[in-house]
Amino acid sequence: MKTIGIIGGMSWESTVPYYRDLNELVKRRLGGLHSAKVVLYSMDFAEVARMQSEGAWDESAALMAHAARSLQAAGAEVVLLATNTMHEVAHAIEATITVPFIHIADPTGEAIRAAALATVGLLGTRFTMERDFYRVRLAERHGVAVVTPAEADRAEVHRIIYEELALGVISERSRGTFTAIIERLAGAGAQGVILGCTEIPLLVRQQDSPLPLFDTGALHVHAAVDF
Ligand code: GLU
Repeated sequence: MKTIGIIGGMSWESTVPYYRDLNELVKRRLGGLHSAKVVLYSMDFAEVARMQSEGAWDESAALMAHAARSLQAAGAEVVLLATNTMHEVAHAIEATITVPFIHIADPTGEAIRAAALATVGLLGTRFTMERDFYRVRLAERHGVAVVTPAEADRAEVHRIIYEELALGVISERSRGTFTAIIERLAGAGAQGVILGCTEIPLLVRQQDSPLPLFDTGALHVHAAVDF
């Protein structure tokens, strides 16, 4: 079995399901007492969130690259970055390690193609919804088109991620907000919705959505276990 390296802690609330699901999946596939071989490098999310809000992407790229090198030195044979947003600096990770890096948008794009959907909604932080790194990869590598919510909805999704979900707050009101936003995405042509933030599945379940959901963290974990 190969050792999986995770750059996590962004936020730690969303790294918990990564660790749990990796182990559940390995147990399901191999049985008995088998569990995943994992090395975790967990960040202080306050530092990372400060770099995001200041636009200090070079600084965060150096931080992510350092973590990836540390994981490889500790024996990781594949590296995962357990946040969609920080894939903005995925290039810095790929340039610094020699073991494979599984980009979170790739298993997501493959699942959307397997479901034969052409246009999906994208929910995530402002950075993921508004910058190019995520939508361009989905379009160029997977032929998937993305629609994003209107400004007020993007602001509310971003707020819920940082002010509630990353702090462990689960609110029925916010769940209802997500359902309403997903309904509006359906009206804008989305056939499915990418939960493009690893905290959102802590709140939004398939039964809360009129459209099929693509849980990026869960798909990422599956890709790592397949590897
Ligand atoms: N975990 C989130 C994501 O998947 C947001 C937190 C972060 O900014 O890293 O994008």
